[in-house]
Amino acid sequence: MEISNISGLFGSDPNWYRLAFQMSADPWYVADASGIILELNPAAERLLGLRGVEGGQSLPEMIAEPDRRGDFLRRIEQDGLVREARLGLETQGGAVIDAAVTATAVRVEGRLAGFFGSIRDVTLETRTCALLADMARFPADDPNPVMRINEAGVVTYANVASAPLLDAWSIQVGQTLPWEPLEGVRRCSADGRFRQFEMTIGGRAWLIDCARVAGQKSLNLYGLDITARREAELDAGRQAADLARANAQLKLANERLNEEAKRLELIVRGIGDGVIVTDLKHRVTMLNRAARELLELKGRAGTGNLLTALLGDCAPEPERIKEALESCRPDRAEEFLLVLREPCARTLRIVASAWLDPSGRVAGRVLILRDVTREQEIDRLKTDFVGSVSHELRTPLTSIKGFTKALRQDGSMSEAMRNQFLDIIDQETLRLEALIEDLLEISRLESGRFQLERHPVDVGGLIEATCETLEPTIEGSALNLKLDIASPLPAPIGDRTALHRVLINIIGNAVKFTPAGGSISVGAAAEGGGHLTITVADTGIGIPQTDLPHIFERFYRVHRPGTEIAGTGLGLAIVHEIVQRHGGTVGIESELGQGTKVTVKLPVQRPV
Ligand code: ADP
Repeated sequence: MEISNISGLFGSDPNWYRLAFQMSADPWYVADASGIILELNPAAERLLGLRGVEGGQSLPEMIAEPDRRGDFLRRIEQDGLVREARLGLETQGGAVIDAAVTATAVRVEGRLAGFFGSIRDVTLETRTCALLADMARFPADDPNPVMRINEAGVVTYANVASAPLLDAWSIQVGQTLPWEPLEGVRRCSADGRFRQFEMTIGGRAWLIDCARVAGQKSLNLYGLDITARREAELDAGRQAADLARANAQLKLANERLNEEAKRLELIVRGIGDGVIVTDLKHRVTMLNRAARELLELKGRAGTGNLLTALLGDCAPEPERIKEALESCRPDRAEEFLLVLREPCARTLRIVASAWLDPSGRVAGRVLILRDVTREQEIDRLKTDFVGSVSHELRTPLTSIKGFTKALRQDGSMSEAMRNQFLDIIDQETLRLEALIEDLLEISRLESGRFQLERHPVDVGGLIEATCETLEPTIEGSALNLKLDIASPLPAPIGDRTALHRVLINIIGNAVKFTPAGGSISVGAAAEGGGHLTITVADTGIGIPQTDLPHIFERFYRVHRPGTEIAGTGLGLAIVHEIVQRHGGTVGIESELGQGTKVTVKLPVQRPV
């Protein structure tokens, strides 16, 4: 059987049905067994956008999800009834509506002849339900801002806590987000991945999270005010930076301090003066190399000992030293001389002052030690020298003055006595002259201003010339002079005039202190080790052993009661100085009453 419209479907008295069909406000349709729409009531035509049913429009074909088309027909076939299928139907205009479609099968002789039913537009209902469900899920009570943003970036709803953000962005619900948050939102909606970014909004720091709402294209935007956290972090950062800076400064200061300490230690170690640091109980806490040398301490011995224990036998006594150290103040140094006797003999000048610990309290003493033994010796020599010179000058002067006065006062003096007095004045003048000559010589040599010449000197020739000078005296005293000069003789480099002076003094002394008839031997020979040796030996009166160690000292003369022989006591001092300046040595051996031998050694290669 064939049916072509509702009348065909409902048979005998279709008019009532038709009327009901036409008048119904609900959209109704009639379709054949394959789903081709046979008739639509006006409400259905409006809903589906169809005018009439020309063209054989298929209802299943209108189902937007193709997979569900076959299923729809199968349910009608099998069940005879579809109570309400929720389907997306594509209307003629292309729009898809959510529809609740019912279908009732019409069978004729057991076979499906067609079906009819209503199509209800439930788009609004579906969306409202979804919206309500969505709203139910929306965390409106969240104490932090939460906003729902749709695909277009419009805020569709927002909770109460969102007010500060909306205010800062100057928008309301229903308006589009400003550019900056929108960018983050777009990135999130593009790939559906969770996004988190920080923003400064209205002068406060916000952490914004964007998350897609499950099953939707819209997303939720969650705000968290992290101003306090950021400030705390900044504070912590600042504190960390301050700490790091302070640390770095401390490190630098420490390095500088270490460097300074090292430098100071190097200076103290290398300083020529001795430095000793003690604590309040006068125990040595530090002493440098120079101090060890001055006190002749071995190795590391020294620190930890009492200062006075390191000084040995000394003057002043340990108790007096302690007293001197006790009276030091930071602003007042104590200075005193310390004479060490054992184990080393030397004089030290000590300058002691108190040192302060970092809290400003006196923590001990610092002693600077300087060896003044030589200075003391020089001072003593100077004093002795001035005394000796004055004495040596006064003796001939007194004599000259006395005889001159006698000559002046005694007009009746005999010719012979007058001549004798004049001779004495003459001799004393010569003695003064010699003395002054020797004084000038020694002062020239010692001043260092006098430069020795540096030429090879023919020592053999010089000895002969000296002996020639002294010949009249030698002959006058009937002395026997023997010369033994090796040939060839190496020539030392030196000052001829100065060496002549040496020979005059030594040979002159031999002549002067050898009684008539005695003999003098002068020899010169090269010695192994690059030396030239000159010896002057006599058979004269000799020198007592006790005088020998002092014989080269200035003004030193052997005291010979009853046999005073003229001299200044400077001759051998001059010899010693000249020979030393030539890098040589001079020695003397003597036996009282037997004779004396003076040996001079001069280096041959060594320049002056
Ligand atoms: P002086 O001008 O008194 O000779 P010197 O310095 O030359 O001074 O000598 C110092 C002293 O050494 C002399 O006073 C003398 O007593 C002693 N002396 C030096 N040479 C001899 C010598 N060959 N024989 C004995 N005594 C000597």
